Amino acid sequence: MAALRSAMVGQTVKDDSISITRCLQPTYMSSIVLFGPPGAGKGTQAERMIDATGLPQVSTGDMLRAAVKAGTPTGLEAKGFMEAGQLVPDSVIIDLIKDRILESDAKNGVMFDGFPRTIPQAEALEQITAVTHVIAIEVPDERIVERICGRYSCAGCGSVYHDTFNPVPADGCACGHWEEKRRADDNEETVSSRLSAYHQQTSPLADWYRSKGIFHAVNGDRAIDEITVDILNALKV
Ligand code: AMP
Repeated sequence: MAALRSAMVGQTVKDDSISITRCLQPTYMSSIVLFGPPGAGKGTQAERMIDATGLPQVSTGDMLRAAVKAGTPTGLEAKGFMEAGQLVPDSVIIDLIKDRILESDAKNGVMFDGFPRTIPQAEALEQITAVTHVIAIEVPDERIVERICGRYSCAGCGSVYHDTFNPVPADGCACGHWEEKRRADDNEETVSSRLSAYHQQTSPLADWYRSKGIFHAVNGDRAIDEITVDILNALKV
């Protein structure tokens, strides 16, 4: 952690509505884990953190969805688990991560979004890269259901919207390539399976990481900008 601290410099940049502290890209390999239930906002926050940390976002959910779409052997194996709201077997996920971490943009570490989700995944990760911070975005279950069930995104640019909380503007997404996309697993039935997988298999990781002194919890049931500020502060510790 001390190493990451020394690599973070208090250079303030403006990001529309908030001031964020830009961290210089570290010159050694150290990774960050964004942790939390489905729909907590890990992906949204990871995207906002790319500039500040200089680390690429690695979302196992996105990688699996791409594999399913491309019809690769990994995708074919993962599809049924994803549709049922269950976790994909550890061996599949660990192999994906082992390959991803070899890519050139990952040489200084990455920002994991949705990985690890089990203790065996976390143990495997220890052999792959050093993790300096685990940031847990905490949101109560009842808020998760309403968040996930109204969620959609722009197929053109990936911006995330919500039927109630953040609808797309009447003239479409600002990227100019508006096309509505909804995830096949963002429905009420699958959400309850995803939440039970989280509570049974993933949440025990919180204590595991807490015991290592690298766990930081932030309240994820607030405005997106406020959560971003808290995460940036946690990364300075
Ligand atoms: P996410 O986009 O992170 O919500 O992930 C969507 C789905 O992909 C999950 O419900 C799981 O079926 C699968 N998945 C993503 N990441 C993992 C992981 N680290 N371990 C096991 N399954 C995963």
